[in-house]
Amino acid sequence: MTSTSPPAGLRHLHSGKVRELYQTDGGDLLMVASDRISAFDHVLSTPIPDKGRILTQLSLWWFERLAGVVANHVLSTDVPAELAGRAVICRKLDMFPIECVARGYLAGSGLTDYEATGTVCGVPAPPGLLDGSQLPEPIFTPATKAPMGEHDENVSYDVVVATVGAEPAAELRSLTLAVYGAARDIALERGIVLADTKFEFGRTPDGQILLADEVLTPDSSRFWPADQWQPGHPQASYDKQYVRDWLTSPASGWDRHSGEKPPPLPDDVVAATRARYVEAYEQLTGEPFA
Ligand code: ATP
Ligand code: MG
Repeated sequence: MTSTSPPAGLRHLHSGKVRELYQTDGGDLLMVASDRISAFDHVLSTPIPDKGRILTQLSLWWFERLAGVVANHVLSTDVPAELAGRAVICRKLDMFPIECVARGYLAGSGLTDYEATGTVCGVPAPPGLLDGSQLPEPIFTPATKAPMGEHDENVSYDVVVATVGAEPAAELRSLTLAVYGAARDIALERGIVLADTKFEFGRTPDGQILLADEVLTPDSSRFWPADQWQPGHPQASYDKQYVRDWLTSPASGWDRHSGEKPPPLPDDVVAATRARYVEAYEQLTGEPFA
């Protein structure tokens, strides 16, 4: 199943780029991950088969392993049969409008910023770091959640304080770094470098902060094969880099600055991308993806 037809009787709350949210009768959330893939802030017209199940199963695996570090929003995986594997019931939270990013290595917008300013999203860093270098210690580089189709914007810690208050900001930062540290160690034991990742947190009515959304998937994280890690150039990765590379190659015929929608993906790009997601799942969990 590539689309997510509405489950009977549930109120549809929100369509994100990848997930659909519904409200259950009990006031909780049914969060359904589709097979949609986004790149360059566009949702592509071609789905990646099984991606929704892979992301959901990988998030559940991580939530369980990190339960000692942070409480999370998952209530149950008891969902309608047609959504099995790709959906969870979770607590409906008041989400912080902040993308909580942790970076342990230099890549992406952190690298761009470092090359331009010598700091990583406002956080000082030593000179001489390369593309893919490990940072002296992991840093919190928050971003604001952009509306659909727009790019998330890195913001300073002060903006987080102004947005959510000093105490929650400090808690978001320390939780983000604690969860990143624990996950980085788990991933490395399995031969994967967790270069960076993005978390979303929300608050329960009684004020408890819980880890929500998806966690530590190829959509929210940069995973690199540890045995190939070598700073100085872009790293091989288990994510949608293959899709991005194809979209920006002459083969796609697409100009990402044209404002046009990206073209459909050819079958070989779909298959290679699916294989990356499966490989990330299998290498992290040590289990075959069924
Ligand atoms: P947006 O929905 O803002 O466009 P997105 O494209 O990343 O962002 P998806 O990841 O497809 O969206 O959908 C997930 C949505 O569900 C996000 O808006 C996320 O903030 C929200 N969400 C995740 N967990 C919870 C929760 N426990 N309670 C309320 N909202 C949640
Ligand atoms: Mg999301």
